[in-house]
Amino acid sequence: MQREAFTVALAGNPNVGKSTVFNALTGMRQHTGNWPGKTVETARGRFSTDAREYLLVDLPGTYSLSAHSEEERVARDFLLSGDYDAAVVVCDATCLQRSLQLALQVLELTPNVILCVNLMDEARQREIAVDITTISKELGIPVVGAAAQKKRTLRDLKAALDAFQPRKMPQLPPPGTGLAVRLRTEKAAALCARAVRAGKHTDARDRALDRVLTGRVTGWAVMVLLLALVLWLTISGANIVSDALGGILFRLGGRLSEGLNALGAPEWLRGALVDGMYRVLAWVVSVMLPPMAIFFPLFTLLEDLGYLPRVAYALDKPFQSCGACGKQALTMCMGFGCNAAGVTGCRIIDSERERLLAVLTNAFVPCNGRFPVLIALATGFLAGNAKGWRASLLASIAVTLLVVLGVWMTLAVTRLLSETILRGHTSSFTLELPPYRRPQVGRVLVRSVLDRTLFVLGRAVAVAAPAGLVIWVLANITGGMLPWLAGLLQPAARAMGLDGETLLAFALGIPANEIVLPILLMLYSGGGVLPDAGSLAPLAAHGWTAATALCAAVFTLFHWPCSTTLLTIKKETGKWRWVLLAAALPTAAGMVLCMIIAAVT
Ligand code: GDP
Repeated sequence: MQREAFTVALAGNPNVGKSTVFNALTGMRQHTGNWPGKTVETARGRFSTDAREYLLVDLPGTYSLSAHSEEERVARDFLLSGDYDAAVVVCDATCLQRSLQLALQVLELTPNVILCVNLMDEARQREIAVDITTISKELGIPVVGAAAQKKRTLRDLKAALDAFQPRKMPQLPPPGTGLAVRLRTEKAAALCARAVRAGKHTDARDRALDRVLTGRVTGWAVMVLLLALVLWLTISGANIVSDALGGILFRLGGRLSEGLNALGAPEWLRGALVDGMYRVLAWVVSVMLPPMAIFFPLFTLLEDLGYLPRVAYALDKPFQSCGACGKQALTMCMGFGCNAAGVTGCRIIDSERERLLAVLTNAFVPCNGRFPVLIALATGFLAGNAKGWRASLLASIAVTLLVVLGVWMTLAVTRLLSETILRGHTSSFTLELPPYRRPQVGRVLVRSVLDRTLFVLGRAVAVAAPAGLVIWVLANITGGMLPWLAGLLQPAARAMGLDGETLLAFALGIPANEIVLPILLMLYSGGGVLPDAGSLAPLAAHGWTAATALCAAVFTLFHWPCSTTLLTIKKETGKWRWVLLAAALPTAAGMVLCMIIAAVT
């Protein structure tokens, strides 16, 4: 079969730098991350050299091809399909023996293999010498070294690809043949004995760090302290930027109004466009954007350092003891970014029961759209009368406690479900702790700031602006409808320490959590006009106290997920009944907690 481009499958263990190789070759931005299961789907990208056009297919990272998990099945099926000209197996030079086992297994399926021994720089630092020529001779295939973070080191790989002449695939081996695992292990060990020489270097520093970061008591303490630190940096930084940005955007709104007036636009048009759409948009951008543009780069830096797998390691046991899969710690972390993404990420969990547990409880941790709300409420009310850095510190402690409450609730509800409607066995998985690596600070910062900025701006335009328009129209045209609805909700809201307007804002905010606060401020203003730049003064004017803010924060943390997440749950589980449950669980938790807080304060 003639293919239009020379197709190359990219295989390798997790964490060997496969995504880095993929990105360096194709110039595409595949998210690199330190946890297994990041890429269950195969990413594809193109690149060309003077000799050829290439199509690169990134297979999921796996330790073997025995088809025990979704990742292994995807990788194995692709390698068996023969839909490629060459398979590049990326290996880790610092633990070649393990990487080689996968390479040997791939060689049992196809003779068209190139070995790319990556992380050569790290091996050199640890005084490990890898003899590329010997490996190539012994295996009878091209072998190249690389340090994929430096693009130019991929020259050898490109040259090997250009020179590669694929051989005909043999008739596929019937299942069950091929080297048994033990033989493969022995062969890899024998090969490493000849080709790898290790110096006296030890990983004493890494091991010492691991003892602290994954220790039973210290691990948790560091985790909470780091979270508080990240939030503190976020809150202090965001306050300054938010005020400045809000000032600029709202002044611009004033100009816009004047401009429309000068053009002789009717009052209703000016109101709908500026007071409705523009102000909500400006509010969301100035309040949501700065914290997220600070929080996510910090989060990504920790990930790039190799810290997040340690978090997963520390959380593995608690999740298992709640009858769930340890991988749920990872999908929960993804939920901090976006619950819809977290729900999709649950595909990395193989058992249907454990995947449902993870899907149903994902919204118990705050996402992108809710973090800034928590931060705003904490800064405005929960920090008391403190000023300056003290206020930021108190606010960050409050948000940290709320996040810890979210994680605790995730575990509690997971346990409840696994002891009632989702009973069953718990499976285990191996989680590898990658070495600590110096993060690529510049790239991380630029990428995650840009990504977040675009994401928030996209949401603001797609959801917040139309929502602003709708609410303005409802407030100004249908007159009494919104107050009537708020009145209807008043008794329930009162019991929860809130008021009807707040509950109505949560209900109307179902398209995106970002718009709950601006909607509430519009409802309070009666005429549907938003106050300036992220100011929460109208809340205090409507009788909000620290207790009200606490109830609102708890309900922000626990209520129905946004519509995007709900639709994603439908897509992932196929059943409306799971969607309903995923909405009912956090809502019930939030209502009960709010009632308790309202009763005791
Ligand atoms: P994957 O799981 O195999 O896709 O691995 P990634 O591409 O996500 O890389 C894991 C980590 O190793 C990231 O922090 C990379 O920046 C880092 N990394 C990748 N290749 C190299 C390399 O050749 N040298 C060094 N020092 N780090 C690397």
